[in-house]
Amino acid sequence: MKEISCKLLVVGAGPGGYVCAIRAGQLGVDTVIVEAGKPGGTCLNVGCIPSKALIHAAQEFEKAGHWAARSDVLGIGVENPSLDFAATIAWKDGIVSRLNSGIAGLLKKAKVKYVQGWATFRDGKTVSVETETGEQVIRAETVVIATGSAPVELPFLPFGGPVVSSTEALALRQVPQHLAVVGGGYIGLELGIAFAKLGARVTVVEALARVLPQYDAELVRPVTKRLSALGIEVLTGAKAKGLSAKGDALLVETSDGRDKRIAADRVLVTVGRKPVTAGWGLDQIDLDMAGRFIRIDEQCRTSMRGIYAIGDVTGEPMLAHRAMAQGEMVAEIVAGQRRSWDKRAVPAVCFTDPEIVSVGLSPDEAKALGETRIGIFPFSANGRAMTMQGEDGFVRVVARADNHLVLGIQAVGQGVSELSAAFSLALEMGARLEDIAGTIHAHPTQSEAFAEAALKALGHALHI
Ligand code: FAD
Ligand code: NAD
Repeated sequence: MKEISCKLLVVGAGPGGYVCAIRAGQLGVDTVIVEAGKPGGTCLNVGCIPSKALIHAAQEFEKAGHWAARSDVLGIGVENPSLDFAATIAWKDGIVSRLNSGIAGLLKKAKVKYVQGWATFRDGKTVSVETETGEQVIRAETVVIATGSAPVELPFLPFGGPVVSSTEALALRQVPQHLAVVGGGYIGLELGIAFAKLGARVTVVEALARVLPQYDAELVRPVTKRLSALGIEVLTGAKAKGLSAKGDALLVETSDGRDKRIAADRVLVTVGRKPVTAGWGLDQIDLDMAGRFIRIDEQCRTSMRGIYAIGDVTGEPMLAHRAMAQGEMVAEIVAGQRRSWDKRAVPAVCFTDPEIVSVGLSPDEAKALGETRIGIFPFSANGRAMTMQGEDGFVRVVARADNHLVLGIQAVGQGVSELSAAFSLALEMGARLEDIAGTIHAHPTQSEAFAEAALKALGHALHI
C-alpha cells in the first residue's frame, strides 16, 4: 500500500474537478486529482461534447438530404447523400480523445498529480484509491468532492437491451429505425432531434403538458414547430409504463388514459440525472444534505470543515459551466484568496433545432418581483437571419420598468447559443436597456436583434 499527502485532493475529474485542480496548481497549491474514468467526466466523455458532435453531424446530413431532394431554395444539388454512421461515431470519439489528452496535459502543466482509480473516503482527510497497481492512500488538508451525476433509471424500464441512457445512445453502432424517447427535456430533445435527422423515426413521451418545461412556452414554440416538421411524434401528458413482452415496443398511457404501443428498436430514457453520492463512503464523513444533493454554502463549503463540494453533486442547474466556475472559485479560496459565489446568472443553452438560450429571469419570474419592460425582436426582421435561412425565433429582453436594469435575456433561433456570451456579460455587468441599445452591434449579424429587443423595450425599435 502506497501513501501520499497533499494540500488539496480533488475527487472526480469532470469539468468541476479538473478546472479546480488546474487553477489550484496554477496558484502553487500541491494538488492531487483522482478519477475512476477518463479526464473530462460526463461532459467530455458522454455528455456535452459527444452530443454536440452528433448534433452537428446530424444537421449536416439533414442539409445534404434537402439538397439531394432539390427541395432547397439555395440552388445546391448533391446526389445520393449517404451516412457511414461508424465513421461519424469514430469522428466524434476522435474529438473526445483529443480533449482527454488535452486535459491530461493541462493538469500536468499545472503540476497536478493524477491518480487513476475509484476513491473511497476513510475519513474527512483520507481516501483510498483502487489503482491498477494496488491501493493508494491519499491524505489531504482539504478535499473537494466533484463526483458528478448519473442518469436516472426508471424501475419499470431498467437500462439494458433496447433500453438505453444517453451514454449508450451516444455510442450506438447503428441509427435506430424507430427510437422512443422517454422524457422531453434537454437530452431527450437534443438527441431525439439528432437521431430524427440521421434517419430514425422518433417518438417523444413527456409526462408533463409540454416538452422542455424548464423554459417558458413562448421560447419553446419554434422548437415544437420544428419537431413537427421533422416528423417527430410528441406525446405530452403521457406515462411510459414499460417494455412490451418481446422488447420491441414501448407501452405508454396517453394523456386521455388510453394505452398505446410504440414500436421501437431503442428506448432512450432521459428523465433527469441524479447526484453520485453512493459507493465512495459518504457515510464515513456524514455531510449535511439538501435533498439528494450535498448541501453547500456560497463558498461551496460542506457541513464538514475542510471539505468542499462542486458541480452536479451539489444540485441544479446541473451544467458544466456552473461546475467549472465553482471549481475555479474553490481553488482560489484554498489558495487563500477571498472569494464567494457572486454570479448574477448561470446561462442555459439547449442545443435543439432551433437553439434556446436563457440567462437570468424569465418574464414571469421578473413580473413576480415588480413592474417590467419587455422587448421582443423577431429574427424574421433581421437581415442576417434571412441570409442564414434562420428566420424562426426571436431575442427577448426583460428589464425593470423603473430603472431599466436588465433582469433576463432569452433567445430562440438558429445558432443563438453563441449569443449567450453577450447576454451573460450584459447581466454580469449590470447593464440597463440603454447600455445594450447604445452599443454598436455589427451588421449584418443576429446580434443586432439583441440591440433591437432592448430598443423595443424602450419603445423605439428601428427595424420593426
Ligand atoms: P461529472 O462531469 O459527472 O464528473 C464527475 C467525475 O467524477 C466522473 O468522471 C466520475 O468518473 C468521477 N468520479 C465519481 N466518483 C468518483 C470516485 N469515487 N472516485 C473517482 N472518480 C469518481 N452541460 C452543459 O453545460 N452543456 C451541455 O451542452 C451539456 N450537455 C450534456 C449532454 C448530455 C448527454 C449529458 C449527460 C450531460 C450534459 N451536460 C451539459 C451536463 C454536464 O455534463 C454536467 O453538468 C457536468 O459534466 C457536471 O460536471 P461535474 O464535474 O460536476 O461532474
Ligand atoms: P431534464 O430534466 O432536462 O428533462 C427530463 C424530462 O423528463 C422532463 O421534461 C420531465 O418532465 C420528463 N420526465 C420525468 N419523468 C418522466 C417519466 N416517467 N415519463 C416521461 N417523462 C418524464 O433531464 P435530462 O434531459 O435527462 O438531462 C439531465 C440534465 O443534464 C439536465 O437537467 C441538464 O442539467 C443537463 N443537460 C444539459 C444540456 C445543455 O446544457 N444543453 C444538455 C443535456 C443535459
